Amino acid sequence: MRVAVVGGGIIGLASALELRRAGADVVLFERGRCGAETSLGNMGWVCPFLVQPMPSWDTLRQAAARVGRREHPVGIIPRLDPSFAGWVLRFLRNVTRHRNTDSLRALYELAQDAPVLYSELAASGVEFEMHEDGILVLAPEADGLRSYLAAASEMAALGYGGQTRLYQGADLRALEPNLGSYPAAGLHLRAERNVRPETVTRGLAAAIGGLGVPIHEGVRVTGLHPDGGGWRVAAADGGGERVDAVVVAGGLWSRDLLAPLGVRLLIEPAKGTSLTYEDTERLIRHPLELADYRVACSTYDGAIRIAGGFELGRFDRSVPDSRVRLLEDAVRTYFPQWPPGRMTARWAGLRPATPDDLPYIGPVPGHQGLYVAAGHGTLGVTLAPGTARAIRSMVIDGVRSPRLFPFRVDRWSAGPTR
Ligand SMILES: Cc1cc2nc3c(=O)[nH]c(=O)nc-3n(C[C@H](O)[C@H](O)[C@H](O)COP(=O)(O)OP(=O)(O)OC[C@H]3O[C@@H](n4cnc5c(N)ncnc54)[C@H](O)[C@@H]3O)c2cc1C
Repeated sequence: MRVAVVGGGIIGLASALELRRAGADVVLFERGRCGAETSLGNMGWVCPFLVQPMPSWDTLRQAAARVGRREHPVGIIPRLDPSFAGWVLRFLRNVTRHRNTDSLRALYELAQDAPVLYSELAASGVEFEMHEDGILVLAPEADGLRSYLAAASEMAALGYGGQTRLYQGADLRALEPNLGSYPAAGLHLRAERNVRPETVTRGLAAAIGGLGVPIHEGVRVTGLHPDGGGWRVAAADGGGERVDAVVVAGGLWSRDLLAPLGVRLLIEPAKGTSLTYEDTERLIRHPLELADYRVACSTYDGAIRIAGGFELGRFDRSVPDSRVRLLEDAVRTYFPQWPPGRMTARWAGLRPATPDDLPYIGPVPGHQGLYVAAGHGTLGVTLAPGTARAIRSMVIDGVRSPRLFPFRVDRWSAGPTR
């Protein structure tokens, strides 16, 4: 079976590897460089615990509390177009207790094996950087961790078996010796991991290239056309391919590719910013979530990355100095010696956000042989291995697990959501 994968981000690359290993004859198209879009400067957390969907009363409460605060990394930049309005409307419809619980269960089921699947990927010869130090959630006083402690009970009920432990005082300082005098408490999510995302996409591209998959970089796919039971993939350079099946894994831009076929994918950009620094002395020892600032830190070999922001509806990728100050000041509250070394990258990426925070994974109804794997929002690294497995079983084996029902492509137009 000949399969074209459109998009060389973490989702497209992971899917291409699964498909190739299952025996498909795969070809991959990437309009720029593989791994150079949203999959580049993210945190690389592999975090099945932290999959709480965005549409919730909690999110609305936090958003309301920020109205009027000019410099805040969470915001909505409204656009006057029907697709944005439709997105917001569906988001609001998902702010109910039962939908939130259903979405959480669906995301957790897709994410739960991610740490093991990353280990398997490494064991199978894909080279990338991975750390198993867990994730430490820091907040001022244990009271600031209340929502995470509540999440721990909820996740345990869903079957999350990872160890979680509350640290305070000297115990916390033993974990993070460079913490300042800020009255912090920490919840250590021991089983979570982090990878350096740019090494994962590089490793995946090398692996699929090594298996003979042609990777057409710098080639934008301009159209998908039904062709005698299969598909003709048209490329901007005038070239293209005749294939049996297509997997659209174009992140945020998947919607543009599918719109001419009458397929309406609700995906909006949610801008996030990251800053990377040298950190040879390991000023910070664990990946951190600073709960009161919604700022994250990810620790790598000789480097550290901090990130924050969720600016919905924003296509620009500027990183103003004010944003840099905001992120740095948040980290400095906890670690007065920040920064640890020279800044080596200043980056902004556009998360492909859906109204219910669930990706689209599955066949496109009415278009035999056309599949989507896009819209992974804040969780693309965590969900990539599970998504790739799902795509393989649908495309190669023709099997669609009921667990994938919540991710169906036509969920806004057909049938109930539960
Ligand atoms: C600041 C920040 C921090 C994050 N931290 C985490 C984290 O810790 N853990 C986590 O799980 N997730 C995290 N994420 C989310 C994660 O980065 C994304 O969900 C993920 O990268 C999406 O991957 P993707 O392959 O779908 O999209 P992309 O990486 O954007 O890849 C899509 C690719 O498709 C290509 N493409 C599009 N259209 C075409 C076309 N017509 N022809 C050819 N090619 C095309 C694009 O050029 C692009 O390379 C974070 C995101 C941000 C912004």
